[in-house]
Amino acid sequence: MRINLRKTLIAALILAMGTTPMAKTYITAQAMSAGYVNSGPGVGLGSSGTGQGATREDGYPIDSGISLDAASYASSGGVAIGELALVIDDTVPEGCVQSANMEVEDPIVKYVDTYTYDYMVNDINALSGRYPGKLKRRSLAKTPDGRDIFELIVGNEQAATHVMINASTHAREYITSNLVMLQLEYLLYFYDEGCFDGKPLKQWFNDVCVHFVPMVNPDGVSISQFGLEGLRSQSLRGTVQKAYEYDVAGGYTSLDFDTYLRSWKANARGVNLNQNFDAMFEFASGKSQLPSAEDYRGPYAESEPESKALADLYDSRTWRAVINYHAQGQVLYWDIENNKMREHSRDLSNNIMLITGYQKAVAGGGGGFKEYVQLCSRPAACVTIEVGSGTCPLPGSQLPTIWAQNKFVPLYTMKWAYDKFVVRGDR
Ligand SMILES: [Zn+2]
Repeated sequence: MRINLRKTLIAALILAMGTTPMAKTYITAQAMSAGYVNSGPGVGLGSSGTGQGATREDGYPIDSGISLDAASYASSGGVAIGELALVIDDTVPEGCVQSANMEVEDPIVKYVDTYTYDYMVNDINALSGRYPGKLKRRSLAKTPDGRDIFELIVGNEQAATHVMINASTHAREYITSNLVMLQLEYLLYFYDEGCFDGKPLKQWFNDVCVHFVPMVNPDGVSISQFGLEGLRSQSLRGTVQKAYEYDVAGGYTSLDFDTYLRSWKANARGVNLNQNFDAMFEFASGKSQLPSAEDYRGPYAESEPESKALADLYDSRTWRAVINYHAQGQVLYWDIENNKMREHSRDLSNNIMLITGYQKAVAGGGGGFKEYVQLCSRPAACVTIEVGSGTCPLPGSQLPTIWAQNKFVPLYTMKWAYDKFVVRGDR
């Protein structure tokens, strides 16, 4: 492990010096992700700020407004090479296996092209059966179309350190649900015999509790996957149908109806959940005043059961780190104006940059869960990870690459939180 990371770092340094103008001082994630297909223009380091509503070369909008240029990158958290430190103890404790180099055999969670709510429920049931006592589940709320928003818990709920990993707040980004379910199974599979950083996973799970919310927006996911047929409620089907008419009339879409549904981002009530949180809600970028595939922030903050459920979960305890999975762009959002956890978020994102090879980026706007976590009265370090490249919904064929980039994110996040708040005693 130690050797692999060093190799990666050296390769990155060579690439960085050879290919990008400012890379003598800064590691670029473009360099770090050598060997992976990187995303197109608009997200590259050194490109001038593309701002809100940025589009890719293929004309497809990227997941969030990105303003990324060399100057803002440097001032807002570019990593000086000298500061980089990601050293992992590769000792295998007695009774353990070197799980870092291993994969789950006979997995329950598969790479699929269209990871549905029903697949997820079946996987949760099967994992609960195979790993009794290791996986706790809770339904945080029912969605408007009657689905459960699940919280899946691995580890000691009485531990001092809690971290959260959530996915599919945006409907068409459902590949992230498949990813975090893979992460969950990996942890369960190696729970008894695996190790990380020279410590048995069993001990890790005694010290740190990890909570997954694998599909924040299951109704929206169903719309993106099955169109109107994905909804059980006639009235919600009507809402979606009307949203299309509004979006066409308001100039928010020029897509045909089927493509529009495929690229649906909101919940079934046409609210972009990641603009609906009670944090700079008035700065949410959605311009529509009416339900929309992605441009409506909702009538008031946390008007939606899904955003309310996530905010309530957050408010229920003290968290040390929160990871929000989105797609796409291979970038990390970690900061916001008045971020109460700026240093910690920067540090956590630097670690995740090294693990994933993704670039750090700066986004504007408000009403997102990251803003909520970083601005509330009990803030936590928070990073939004945008996986994959191309057009959402991303094909399942990207999962092996996305898995390779993100396999260790939960364990590193657990370690990061434990080191900072328990070993070092930060508050
Ligand atoms: Zn998103």
